Amino acid sequence: MRRLAVFLASSDGHDPAHAHLAAGVGTELARRGIGLVYGGGRRGLMGVLADSALKAGGEVIGVMPRDMVEREWAHERVTELLMCDSMHERKALMAEHADAFIALPGGLGTLEEFFEVWSWRQLGFHTKPVGFLDAGSFWTPLLGALRGIADSGFLPVSTLDDLAVAPDLPSLLDALEHRLRGASRPAHGEDFR
Ligand code: AMP
Repeated sequence: MRRLAVFLASSDGHDPAHAHLAAGVGTELARRGIGLVYGGGRRGLMGVLADSALKAGGEVIGVMPRDMVEREWAHERVTELLMCDSMHERKALMAEHADAFIALPGGLGTLEEFFEVWSWRQLGFHTKPVGFLDAGSFWTPLLGALRGIADSGFLPVSTLDDLAVAPDLPSLLDALEHRLRGASRPAHGEDFR
């Protein structure tokens, strides 16, 4: 894996453990020589992640709509800041530049971005793996809700099983690598109807 896209909060959240997690992820990605692709923000967990990766000598690619850069939301020291015209373009550019996608704790923006790339994978538009970093069981309630949706027949169990979930970054990277080698693919299109 050359580059990993990380979706995460543009705010800090209430628990300092989240910032600690984001800092650890940035440092570990840099240590492994995996480039970070993220939304380009300087605030919240996004800023903590980028700062820690840069501090450890890693490559950091931020992708942000011009409008948000003009509002001074962008991180000023990333390796490369790719500017675009819309949130749609931002997500497409992030997807283009990354080999896999993960979500750290976050809110609506994080969920929206993550679910879009996951649904693209389900539809077979790309084969890049997706995963939740479930540190502190942050995503466990959402995973329970998704299991309920699968039980109702609206989410293929193969899609749910295809999601990599791990409590720490090294385990999550292992699960993503496993999927990158083609060991796990979601059924898509006609296959799951
Ligand atoms: P959330 O999980 O709701 O915090 O969303 C994270 C996403 O929100 C980021 O990818 C950005 O698109 C967007 N966002 C919202 N506010 C900001 C901000 N102040 N700086 C950078 N990105 C932001």
